[in-house]
Amino acid sequence: MSDKKIGKLHLGFYPTPMARLEGISKVTGVNCYIKRDDLCGIAFGGNKVRKLEYLLAHARAEGYDTVLTTGGAQSNHATLTAACCRKLGLDVVLVLKKRGETGKKGNLLLDDIMDVEVVFVDTDDYSDVYAEADRIIEKLKAKGKKPYLIPVGGSVPLGALGYYDAVGEMAAQAKEMGFTINHIICASGSGGTHGGVLLGAKAQGNIKVTGVVVSVEVEFQKEICRIANEAAELIGRKPDIALEEVVLKEYIGPGYAVPSEEGSAAIRLMAETEGIFLDPVYTGKTFAGFLDLCKKGYFTPGENVVFIHTGGTPALFALPL
Ligand SMILES: *Cc1c(COP(=O)(O)O)cnc(C)c1O
Repeated sequence: MSDKKIGKLHLGFYPTPMARLEGISKVTGVNCYIKRDDLCGIAFGGNKVRKLEYLLAHARAEGYDTVLTTGGAQSNHATLTAACCRKLGLDVVLVLKKRGETGKKGNLLLDDIMDVEVVFVDTDDYSDVYAEADRIIEKLKAKGKKPYLIPVGGSVPLGALGYYDAVGEMAAQAKEMGFTINHIICASGSGGTHGGVLLGAKAQGNIKVTGVVVSVEVEFQKEICRIANEAAELIGRKPDIALEEVVLKEYIGPGYAVPSEEGSAAIRLMAETEGIFLDPVYTGKTFAGFLDLCKKGYFTPGENVVFIHTGGTPALFALPL
């Protein structure tokens, strides 16, 4: 495990459960399992907590006292950062894109309940969001504070190590359950999760990884490859992940954080079949991608596929289905 050399906090309850999806396996004809990272036990759970265990350990070790991060209006990452900072007694400021602002619903309700400072920036461009974050950082510094900026999604190599660990955790659970993981499928939003999973899968040996793209990113394959290889270097592994190992399937639908018909249908199928709730921004579209790939014969017969539930359920209470 990577946490011997590099600082890591315990913010979530791990291992999260992993279970076979009986009903979905029947419907799709594929051996399907789910990794419940939505159940990691802080706020309403989600993948960002594994990244934050590394990022906030670093912030604390270096004596930072105020955390800033950015995201979309309903950012899961921002809310989970705020929740973890509240738990650790760190100050936190969220700088969010105004588009998609809902008032006190979903994650914005949770941010309000935690009494977190939220600054909205009316722009479609992250460079404007970071410019605003920089202005806030300068103001905080002038007041004698030591601010720590976490980039969007926490998708930096250090954060990705959380998903390197997650694959080790999943492989151990699978072994106990009596099967071998052949394929992992996860959402690819800002790339840190996918990058970490790739690195973890490579360390385990023969596990394929497919990332489902749910937001528009330029040169995304290269970016994920870079994150994975730089994360490898952090833990003294060879940075030997090749570009073609980053497999991406695009299921954005009408746009980032805009529900898609297929995504909504996939959310309903999962809820009706398994009693599990996915979200309209990431996991619903990713599961829709999984269902489509099953139909197209993408998975080898007999393959054991693990779908990572990366969280995001608060958006169900903010966006239309
Ligand atoms: C952020 C997020 C993702 C995507 O993870 P990245 O590491 O940003 O690619 C997937 N699912 C949910 C619910 C998220 O909040």
